[in-house]
Amino acid sequence: PPEADATDRDTVLELDGVTKAYGAEDAVTDLELDVRDGELLTLLGPSGCGKTTTLRMLAGLERPTEGTITLAGETVADDDTFVDPETRGVGIVFQDFALFPHLSVRENVAFGLKEWDADATRERVDDLLDLVDMPEMGDRSPDQLSGGQQQRVALARSLAPEPDILLLDEPFSNLDVRLRVEMREEVRRILKEAGVTAVSVTHDQEEALSISDRVAVLNDGRLEQVGEPEGVFEHPESRFVASFLGQAGFLSGRVGEETVDTCIGSYDRTLLKGLSDGYAGAMVDVLVRPDDLRAVPANEATANGQIVKRQYTGPSFIYHVELDNGDVVRCLHNHAEDMDVGESVAVDLVSDHSLAWYPTR
Ligand code: ATP
Repeated sequence: PPEADATDRDTVLELDGVTKAYGAEDAVTDLELDVRDGELLTLLGPSGCGKTTTLRMLAGLERPTEGTITLAGETVADDDTFVDPETRGVGIVFQDFALFPHLSVRENVAFGLKEWDADATRERVDDLLDLVDMPEMGDRSPDQLSGGQQQRVALARSLAPEPDILLLDEPFSNLDVRLRVEMREEVRRILKEAGVTAVSVTHDQEEALSISDRVAVLNDGRLEQVGEPEGVFEHPESRFVASFLGQAGFLSGRVGEETVDTCIGSYDRTLLKGLSDGYAGAMVDVLVRPDDLRAVPANEATANGQIVKRQYTGPSFIYHVELDNGDVVRCLHNHAEDMDVGESVAVDLVSDHSLAWYPTR
């Protein structure tokens, strides 16, 4: 039979109207979310948006002020119920991996298996060391491991008791940049091979987009958008999501009968989904991303802006251009162009794939 669509799978974790208040302030407000069997969902948002608070409520380290959390069909938190972290069936991988320094790798992995008999424990630990690609390292102590290996052991230890859900708190923040990218793929492979349902937390957009089955974007304690990485990136439903997930620029646009007119050009109105006839005459903000824009040197007659900054990133150059109407946009170039700060340029839209619109604030 064809592989079941993710949406057909059972819901393992459900948050219904979950709010957490500290005093008069909400850290998380009215969160509605479900996580399906075998899925990796990432909570993504800027510092202070409520990611850690949400993860702690899932773990049972905080109790929601309002709302219900259901895990594997059982209510684990609501007005009347609160199931302790130890009995929730939740595994946690901490940011700093938190391995027990005085225990060997094997003993660390076996830590949650106290109820298991010796043979079953040995077999389970062997399987997990294979899964995390460390079959020969069981006798080492944690201080003899690299950061990536410590992360593998931490994963194996949390997976060992077969949790209903695995929580990962900023899983890559303790690794150097190069290892981070390598471990992203490894962690995803390990979670998928284990078949575990997982919720991860990060403020790193690229990480969230590259490892997750779905991403939930949080802003100021509220869910802004949830969906598959490409869907959320390509179709941001709010200005916040557009800005947080990519280097968004916004062009002021006047909606005409057939077109939307901006200071760099007029575009067919049908390119902007949902912009109905009722908007004719209105002002909107049109989303453009750096890779949709190019700048070329121009004379006074053809220029529509001026370079205000030139940013070198290694593989690319980003020219920041202040347009004649004051909008500032970024143009992505693969090579250095013969253009400097202060120079007049003509910015042109070279691709319309990111185009979207939001009501002008
Ligand atoms: P970061 O990425 O910086 O860890 P975050 O998205 O995880 O941020 P939270 O730590 O969940 O954010 O915090 C959300 C909000 O709740 C913040 O405004 C924070 O100051 C507040 N907050 C968190 N814990 C407490 C607490 N124990 N008492 C009071 N306020 C808290």
